[in-house]
Amino acid sequence: MLGLAATSVIGPVALAAALLVSFALFARRARRLIGIVRLGQPVDRGDDVARRVGLEATVVLGQRKLFQRALPGAMHAAIFWGFLVLLTTILEAFGEVFTRHFTIPLIGRTAALGLIQDLFMTLVAVGVAIAFYIRKAQRPERFAGSHVHEADYILLWILAIVLSLWALRADRIAMELNGPPAAWMPVSNLLAPAFHGLSSGVQEALGQLFLWIHLLLILGFLTYIPYSKHLHIVASEPNVWFSNTKARGRLRPLKIDLESLEEDVSLGAATLEDLTWKEILDTYTCTECGRCQNACPAWNTGKPLSPKLLIMNLRDHVFEQGPRILDAKAAGASYEKVDLVPAVVDDEVVWSCTTCGACMQECPVDIEHVDHIVDLRRNLVMAESRFPAEAGTLLRNLESASNPWGQSQSSRADWAAGLGVRVLAPGEPAPEVLYWVGCAGSFDERARKISRAMAQVLAAAGIDFAILGPKELCTGDPARRIGNEYLFQMLAEQNVETLNGAGVRTIVASCPHCFNTLKNEYPDYGGTYEVVHHTELFSRLVREGRLALTGEVNELLTYHDPCYLGRHNEVYEEPRDVLAHVPGLRTVELPRHHERGFCCGAGGARMWMEERSGKRINIERTDEAVATGAQSVGVACPYCLIMLDDGAKARGAELKVVDVAQVLAASSGDGGGAGGSAAASPTVGPGAGA
Ligand code: SF4
Ligand code: SF4
Repeated sequence: MLGLAATSVIGPVALAAALLVSFALFARRARRLIGIVRLGQPVDRGDDVARRVGLEATVVLGQRKLFQRALPGAMHAAIFWGFLVLLTTILEAFGEVFTRHFTIPLIGRTAALGLIQDLFMTLVAVGVAIAFYIRKAQRPERFAGSHVHEADYILLWILAIVLSLWALRADRIAMELNGPPAAWMPVSNLLAPAFHGLSSGVQEALGQLFLWIHLLLILGFLTYIPYSKHLHIVASEPNVWFSNTKARGRLRPLKIDLESLEEDVSLGAATLEDLTWKEILDTYTCTECGRCQNACPAWNTGKPLSPKLLIMNLRDHVFEQGPRILDAKAAGASYEKVDLVPAVVDDEVVWSCTTCGACMQECPVDIEHVDHIVDLRRNLVMAESRFPAEAGTLLRNLESASNPWGQSQSSRADWAAGLGVRVLAPGEPAPEVLYWVGCAGSFDERARKISRAMAQVLAAAGIDFAILGPKELCTGDPARRIGNEYLFQMLAEQNVETLNGAGVRTIVASCPHCFNTLKNEYPDYGGTYEVVHHTELFSRLVREGRLALTGEVNELLTYHDPCYLGRHNEVYEEPRDVLAHVPGLRTVELPRHHERGFCCGAGGARMWMEERSGKRINIERTDEAVATGAQSVGVACPYCLIMLDDGAKARGAELKVVDVAQVLAASSGDGGGAGGSAAASPTVGPGAGA
């Protein structure tokens, strides 16, 4: 009796000890990791609870972003969903240590649960097999630089957990101790004959062996993961929860107060402690899957920037430097601060980014690479005045002339000469729609054609519109993306003052960079308007029958998605919709389109920087457009127009580059001149705006 009693308490005591050790190690590591996250700068991610619940439901539970790639998505979902179901088998295994007949209340030991468990165990095993097939047979380039061996061990560990469970269940069936009918546990039942010929004592001993192997594998897994580079298994859920719920194109404002510059103001990220806590959490979360690297235009054209390696390098630094800082702080000691650039990230890596957002679109765990890059740039530009020499011209032009071209503001409306476009005068009532022309549309000769087409189409649709003329300053997008937050803030505040003073409510922008800044970033500076991109407005006008497209445009066109219209603001269908209404026009998709669109190379202020290594991004995209056989490439952005036109010229290709507005202008006739319905207002004629 005493012997039996002693045996029956050994299991629970051993389990309690194993649990204690495992949880203690887990908690110790978790405390350390949370401590490091708390070294980061504040960023508000506590709002929008409903959307965050939705993100957890779709991105984490639904594996939405992983399914952007079918096979790897199915593989990961099989393992992830399988493990969720296996929480019930883990609970049963723990319970079995206390009593052989442990049952989960309500659902335990039922035929349905037995079947579901067996099916999902199979799914996990199949998922592991697919993962090995992808890694060892397909060997995609995206894994270059990842810790593939550690990932292999983790996959094998997962497989061992499932195999030990199958052995345990098969042994129980052989002993007729299975709860659900054996037929409802088909795979386990298939394995049961392996134990049939054994004595009950051996079956019993094997059962205990499999049970403890299973339990120790699970506890070992729980303990090992937070110490490994595959911390994402526990970090991805909070990282998705705290991800950005605003438009992807909005950058976090710094709101610099010049008065307080003497104090310890954070101007971007110089060291680990300048990263936000979310950025530190991002580094824990990287799965090293390389999807971001695979999509990155910089990496794909031979630049040194890989968004994956950027995050991995930052993580290595966080793991190395974070504990040192914590220990030094706990001891009240001083510690050496390490500059992230260039100690962790090379200057050229920082400057190679076009902020296209392809990495963020792909990342299955919602890492926000652009925030990292812009924060590094902010420090280099504002604290160290360190940036590529040619970018200095951009910044000087913005400071002195309020536009990147360095042209006189007085010539801003020259593009509209002779079109009868109304320039909003002080005290005049705001028009139905303010046309925000943008700097490219005002000063670049090729982009001015878009502005003229815009005026023509707006007039053809009978829209009451006007422009700000010389009072329109650069929105500040290039200043912000290059890292000069202060300059951006100055331009934004002046523009908001002008727009608010004029009583503007609705703005149409033909430049997606202006559109993004006006729509998503100006509300942070007191400017809240209804902002639409011209393709959105045209789509609406065509559908409402206010814009008649009657002229035939007989050609084959391929549409290129601008990053700041598509990925950053999810406007994909409207440009295609209006093009579909143009008589005679045929379209063909580029190989990379919609969310997968490939950058033209101009975003992130790259328009004003040299591409010193690899293939030019605009040439890569031009080659892709040429290969479609299209006669023209349609864009919805003046930057894309300039970059792809340069690409076509460099390649000597017979490829026209036209904005959607130009296509519509060709199809809608001349519209009887521009200027909308405000005939009495001052208009731009030759020399006007001077
Ligand atoms: S934003 Fe674009 S260019 Fe920058 S790292 Fe991401 S994918 Fe690469
Ligand atoms: S940053 Fe995201 S997409 Fe890139 S490797 Fe890490 S998890 Fe994958």
